[in-house]
Amino acid sequence: MRRKTNKTTKPRAVDLDQIADGVRLILEGVGEDPNREGLVDTPKRVAEMYAELTAGMREDPAEHIVPLSGNKHDEMVIVKDISIASLCEHHLAPFVGKCHVAYIPKNGRILGLSKLARLAETFARRLQLQERLTSEIANTLFEQLQPLGVMVVIEAEHTCMTLRGVRKSGAVTVTSAVLGGFRKDPRTRAEAIALITGQKK
Ligand SMILES: [Zn+2]
Repeated sequence: MRRKTNKTTKPRAVDLDQIADGVRLILEGVGEDPNREGLVDTPKRVAEMYAELTAGMREDPAEHIVPLSGNKHDEMVIVKDISIASLCEHHLAPFVGKCHVAYIPKNGRILGLSKLARLAETFARRLQLQERLTSEIANTLFEQLQPLGVMVVIEAEHTCMTLRGVRKSGAVTVTSAVLGGFRKDPRTRAEAIALITGQKK
């Protein structure tokens, strides 16, 4: 039942030298000397950091959807507080937070916790918008695992908001994506929301 996603275009490899050249231009642009001692290795370091933070662009998220075998479980599964770190595509600034995933398994197909975390990470390690990240995780889980319903909630703090501009320190953006049974049945959805948010009070 696994289907490959985004097989049409093969992702381009990272060009570390090109990123480093760009970082050197930023340093010059802000009035720094890229050759001074403290900054000599900065372009290379930043290039490696961006390669890591965009590693998900070069991964197939469907690879992480490998159901655990021999299960009869068909009650709602909720995995809370998966740490996510992503890059906002408007500012290339990090946004960090928590991802919560709820799903109702079909025919006992459930997913190990580490696979779920890897799925979230594969999508987070791309240039993202929080809304898109949320729906990409939900859609892939729904298409590949084929559960009865999926709900994904992400709470994140965007450094492009908290470090600059309006400086809303601590402001948290909450996004959600709801599919299948959760969409049709308000009671199931309410139950999932209560379980996701309940423990924090
Ligand atoms: Zn931003």
